[in-house]
Amino acid sequence: MTIKNNIVRYTQNLPPGCALIAVSKTQPIEKIQEAYDAGQHAFGENKAQEMARKYEQLPRDIQWHMIGHLQTNKVKYIAPFVHLIHSVDSLKLLTEIDKQARKNNRIISCLLQVHIAEEETKFGFSAEEVQELLKNEAMQSLDHIRISGLMGMATFTENMDQVRKEFRSLNQLFATLKNQPLPKQVVMQELSMGMSSDYAIAIEEGSTMVRIGTSIFGERNYAAASSTQQ
Ligand SMILES: *Cc1c(COP(=O)(O)O)cnc(C)c1O
Repeated sequence: MTIKNNIVRYTQNLPPGCALIAVSKTQPIEKIQEAYDAGQHAFGENKAQEMARKYEQLPRDIQWHMIGHLQTNKVKYIAPFVHLIHSVDSLKLLTEIDKQARKNNRIISCLLQVHIAEEETKFGFSAEEVQELLKNEAMQSLDHIRISGLMGMATFTENMDQVRKEFRSLNQLFATLKNQPLPKQVVMQELSMGMSSDYAIAIEEGSTMVRIGTSIFGERNYAAASSTQQ
């Protein structure tokens, strides 16, 4: 399958209301251009500098999605152009995004990353922490961000019942938030969940954005990607 065929296949098969984010991390410019020429204009990256470099080299109407853990000192590299940051996992990061968005005279859209997997990871809020964040006084002064939904990653497992359960729990939090009073910059519209291995289940459980890398571009070559960077 060529990249073009993969893009066409996904865009034809995703239900209306579910967007395709082509995850292009580690992939060379030529492959991204190939996907772009097939009509794909939304790409996901997980490193700020790699995204900024690709932004410089590729067409300006690409929507760049940050899907990986973002350090506060890296926000400045992507603040001028990033379309959506899926991986907001602290008030500190949100505050920095607001500051950099203000400097660039724009409003940056964000998703709150929620930890739904069984695996131990440092990243992502619990459901309780999301509620605490949304009630935090400090939110009120952040007027250059917009929180437009939630993002989550399921456990890396063959057990699809577990994956489904985790996606369902994220959708339940999403529904709960939708039905409660929220700060003025928050509107629950997007539910970013599903990758190559589990996107079909994610869609059944309410995903509005799937993040697909390997099944579009093939396996990632991390060694080649890091040797051509910086
Ligand atoms: C790499 C990555 C993806 C894409 O994973 P594939 O298995 O290649 O589809 C999706 N989401 C996040 C957060 C990622 O880091």
